[in-house]
Amino acid sequence: MALQCPANSPFDCVLLDLDDTLYPGGTGIGPALKRNIDEFLVARFGLAADRAASLRVELFRTHGSTLAGLIALGHDVHPDEYHSYLHGRLPYDRIAADPGLAPLLQSIPQRKILFTNSDRAHMKKALERLGVEEGCFDGVVCFETMNPHLFVQANQEDNDGLVDAGRAVVVLKPSVDAIAVALRVAGTNPHRTLFLDDNERNIAAGKALGLGTGLVGKRVRSKEADYALESIGNLRQAIPEIWGVPVGGELQIDHNVEKNNSTRADLDFIIQPTSVQA
Ligand SMILES: [Mg+2]
Repeated sequence: MALQCPANSPFDCVLLDLDDTLYPGGTGIGPALKRNIDEFLVARFGLAADRAASLRVELFRTHGSTLAGLIALGHDVHPDEYHSYLHGRLPYDRIAADPGLAPLLQSIPQRKILFTNSDRAHMKKALERLGVEEGCFDGVVCFETMNPHLFVQANQEDNDGLVDAGRAVVVLKPSVDAIAVALRVAGTNPHRTLFLDDNERNIAAGKALGLGTGLVGKRVRSKEADYALESIGNLRQAIPEIWGVPVGGELQIDHNVEKNNSTRADLDFIIQPTSVQA
C-alpha cells in the first residue's frame, strides 16, 4: 500500500512487470514456456514439431504472441485452455524465494501496480514462489484485466454482436491499449509514472507515451530507457528518486517532454480507452 509520497520525487506511481523483472532472467522459465507453446500447437492442431516452432515465432512477430495470432486467425482457442496448458507444467521451482523483495516493494512510497502480460494463475504462482503477497500491490493488470472481451460468455457474444472470436484482438504489452489499461488502473499522470520492465519493446512503448522508464536486467540503458538496473534488488541504488533522493543533486530523468506542458486534453488522449476491435 502506498506510503506518504515524497514531495521531491518525480513519480506518483510505479508500474512493475513480473517475469524476468521481479525475479532474474535465466531461470529457464522462458525456454520452458516456448517448449510448452510448441507442444500445445502440436497437440491442438496436429502440427509437426518443427512447424509448431516456426509458427510460434511467426505469430509472435506478426501478432505479439502465439495466442493473439491464433485468435486473430480465427481459431477457437479460449485463453484459459491455452494458459492452463502452458503454465500447468512450468518449472516454478526455478523461481527462487527472494526474502528481500517484499520489504523492498513495501518501501516504495508510490502507488504500485503489477503490470504483466501473464494470466492471473501464473502471476499468483510466481508471486508465491517469490514470497510476495498480491496485496503488496495497489492494483494488478494482467492478461484477464487487459482482455475482458475474450471472457464474454458465448450467449452475450451472440446477443450484442460485440465479440467475434475470429476477429478479436488480444491486448498485451507493448501495445498502446495495454499501457492505457495500466494507466487507467493507476489513475496517475503518465509523466509522473515510472515503468519497470525487462523487455526493450515494452520500455520503448512506455517511453513513447511519456512514462519514466527503467530497463531491468541490463547494465546498459536502451535508447528509450531512463534507467538501467541489473536486478530489482538494485532499485534503491539505481533510482533513488523513487524515495525522493536526487542523484548528484539533480533528478536523473529525461522524459523528452516538458513534464509541466501536458494539458488535461493530452492526458485524456493518452489514457482514453481505445475500442477493442471485435
Ligand atoms: Mg518480463
